[in-house]
Amino acid sequence: MAKLIVSDLDVKDKKVLIRVDFNVPIKDGVIGDDNRIVAALPTIQYVIDNGGKAILLSHLGRIKTEEDKAKLSLRPVAERLSELLKKPVTFVPATRGQELEDAINNMNDGDVLVMENTRFEDLDGKKESKNDPELGKYWASLGDLFVNDAFGTAHRAHASNVGISSNMPQAAAGFLMEKEIKFLGDAVENPRHPFVAILGGAKVSDKIGVISNLINKADRIIVGGGMTYTFYAAKGLSIGKSLVETDKIDLAKQIMAEAGDKLVLPVDNVVATEFSNDAPHKVVEGNIPDGYMALDIGPKAVESFKKVLADAKTVVWNGPMGVFEMPNYAKGTLEIGKALGELTDATTIIGGGDSTAAANELGIAPKITHISTGGGASLEYLEGKELPGIAAITNK
Ligand code: ADP
Ligand code: MG
Repeated sequence: MAKLIVSDLDVKDKKVLIRVDFNVPIKDGVIGDDNRIVAALPTIQYVIDNGGKAILLSHLGRIKTEEDKAKLSLRPVAERLSELLKKPVTFVPATRGQELEDAINNMNDGDVLVMENTRFEDLDGKKESKNDPELGKYWASLGDLFVNDAFGTAHRAHASNVGISSNMPQAAAGFLMEKEIKFLGDAVENPRHPFVAILGGAKVSDKIGVISNLINKADRIIVGGGMTYTFYAAKGLSIGKSLVETDKIDLAKQIMAEAGDKLVLPVDNVVATEFSNDAPHKVVEGNIPDGYMALDIGPKAVESFKKVLADAKTVVWNGPMGVFEMPNYAKGTLEIGKALGELTDATTIIGGGDSTAAANELGIAPKITHISTGGGASLEYLEGKELPGIAAITNK
């Protein structure tokens, strides 16, 4: 369903509350990766270029104790934002009260203000994370319009997204939210065929919802990574010391029966004696010998996966093919990522925190059509769930 977009709003002279996802990695006040700040720029820029006042709300990490506050202030994020926008950004070290209200009332058109981490409110009965009705209403009262651009939080019903939305006559999606919904939505609901899903990562239980949702939508489902060996066990292959969820073997059998030829498993694997980069390792086909664990897909698997990918028009990738954090087991993930980058006539989408980290580390990110900024949110989207943050945005 089409959503109201920030560009549908008349923002001139308006106080525009924008829920962004500035949940960036931060250590000792230093921001690691600022991708999420960069991804929010188009919406902020649009609002200020059109004479609006941009009032930004975001969470950062989890606030459980008073001590967490010093580590997780949004002040360094406001400073980085100011550098990126090349203009002053007002930071208010409060989530409510006179200082915040005065600062908002003193804003001129085109100004940008960042208020303190919305989760500081969690110290008081989890008001943000439990969507306290009074808090959502209060924040909504601070602005004239509401724009939700925080896709990464869309799978949660918090005061700063769903709470504000429900206290405003309408809520619009920002450009990042619009882009995420477009790419993930088209892939799941209206893909160009052949549509291939590549699912990997650690556990079957994490991805079962995605497999179930895509089984009738995708033309092929490639399985790699740690979850492979539960499927191996279901096929009656030996798995040595490989990762396995014994309580999911029956489910894996069911999925294989339902998916038939659609499901593609690796024919060979890189196996090692220990979960260590330096452990003795080798490539084996089929059965995994006793005393070994599979830590990456093998070269024949890479070739067969590449064949499946060759004529794909839509590819969704979630979860690495092996323990890519260790160089000796990164090859499968790298090769599949490279193959994805070489598909010139396909829409390629990556969702999932570790898969995104892998794509960035391995340098294949620039060749991917869309890398989702939301790990958990993209996974739930691929599972076909309705995300509360998106549901709360006005339909048009
Ligand atoms: P994403 O965050 O992209 O959804 P996951 O969190 O599901 O991905 O899985 C990522 C993790 O899976 C990585 O830390 C990786 O090391 C691990 N993994 C991949 N293959 C294996 C394997 N064969 N054995 C053990 N762990 C694996
Ligand atoms: Mg992960």
